[in-house]
Amino acid sequence: MSRRNYPSAFMHPFSHIPTLEEEGPVIVDRGEGVYIYDDRGRKYLEGNSGLWNVVLGFDNKKLIETAQRAYAKLPAYHAFFGRVGQAALDLSERVVKLAPMEANRVFYANSGSEANDTVVKLLWFLAEQEGKPHRRLLLSRKNAYHGMTVITASLTGKDYVKSASGLPVKEVRHLTCPHHWREALPKESETDFSQRLALELEQTIRNTGPDYIAGFFAEPVMGAGGVIPPPEGYFQAIQPVLKKYGIPLIADEVICGFGRTGEFWGSQTYGMKPDIVVASKVITAGFFPMGAIILSPEMTERIDKASAKYEELPTGFTTGAHPVGCAIAMAALDEIEGGAFANVKARSPEFQKQLRAMADHPMVGEARGVGLMGALEMVADKKTKAPFAGNLDVSERVSRQALKNGLICRPLGASIVLAPPFIITDAQISELFGILRKTLDEVY
Ligand code: PLP
Repeated sequence: MSRRNYPSAFMHPFSHIPTLEEEGPVIVDRGEGVYIYDDRGRKYLEGNSGLWNVVLGFDNKKLIETAQRAYAKLPAYHAFFGRVGQAALDLSERVVKLAPMEANRVFYANSGSEANDTVVKLLWFLAEQEGKPHRRLLLSRKNAYHGMTVITASLTGKDYVKSASGLPVKEVRHLTCPHHWREALPKESETDFSQRLALELEQTIRNTGPDYIAGFFAEPVMGAGGVIPPPEGYFQAIQPVLKKYGIPLIADEVICGFGRTGEFWGSQTYGMKPDIVVASKVITAGFFPMGAIILSPEMTERIDKASAKYEELPTGFTTGAHPVGCAIAMAALDEIEGGAFANVKARSPEFQKQLRAMADHPMVGEARGVGLMGALEMVADKKTKAPFAGNLDVSERVSRQALKNGLICRPLGASIVLAPPFIITDAQISELFGILRKTLDEVY
């Protein structure tokens, strides 16, 4: 039996079963810089940094050597009961200094989902301990992606979440997706659209009662929703409403954090002042599973006070703040602050120029993005923005053809999404868009 045969014993997450049945999986063998190679020696430019995370190269020697040293010294330990590795202390001091708001505490999980899930748990913990057990409602947006645990899948505003019974859980409300090109009324400006969404938020809060709402979750740029930057004035309109009703803003910086948008945080790019920041992915450049929750002093104080009667914070994960993960994160931050972030800033204009130039292609309705992230939304008719019939199939077909041409890019709904590694060069940006244009011509 060929090892490419499908099905195999491996259950493929988020994979297209008909493609697997036809072609089997791409067996990824090794990586080098911005490229990966499969087991047949074929080379692919990784236009998505893996899953937005492998931003410092697929063979980054500094991270590998750091991991080797860390494994040789203390290959594993937990952080419960007052015992902790030095790297976790060092990393936390560094992360609170880098945070986009005043911050003084970091809690570690093992993934973005776990981190967002823990935020909900902490918000509900505060509700219970502060005598407001009814304060449970969670606000999110359609098309958001916040993870795949029961609660974070519920925060995720994608239709497929409803495939599991009872999801989204009843505590979640999804507001309008802030995508001006798709969702604005005819002739509505970006700022007017933002004002309308702030009004929607305020009406939702009033309808439910502010006392019932535990928090508002938002990615600075919606990533898995199809790279949707907020419209002009969006967070400037949303935040005063949240403040007025005392609702915490949770910035899900799992994709945007540590440089992706061209500022160190998406919150800085869009003027967000969050109470809590969630980070993951880039914090270890994908070399180790990690999620981090960064807390403002006010949040820290409330959590400390609420946990006092339990004598300990009543939550934690066996491998949270793993000593090897924390050492890798320190090395990743060295790399990011030592040059990779500067490269994002330097390369973003060229990336955005070439991305937007794709808008002249007959299949592309909108080319949008910021920093080193972007999306091309496919339409059958540019004027009416009518999607292709079988919309998913078009972007799926484009990405499959791109794969044959040596480029990995991701179909997300009707969009093709790009988020190359932070270390990409201008020549590689041209290579990426050269392959993509050829691919669109072939599919058209
Ligand atoms: N939040 C955002 C914005 C994400 O993009 C993702 C994953 O892509 C998550 C949370 C969930 O992270 P993980 O897959 O590590 O659980």
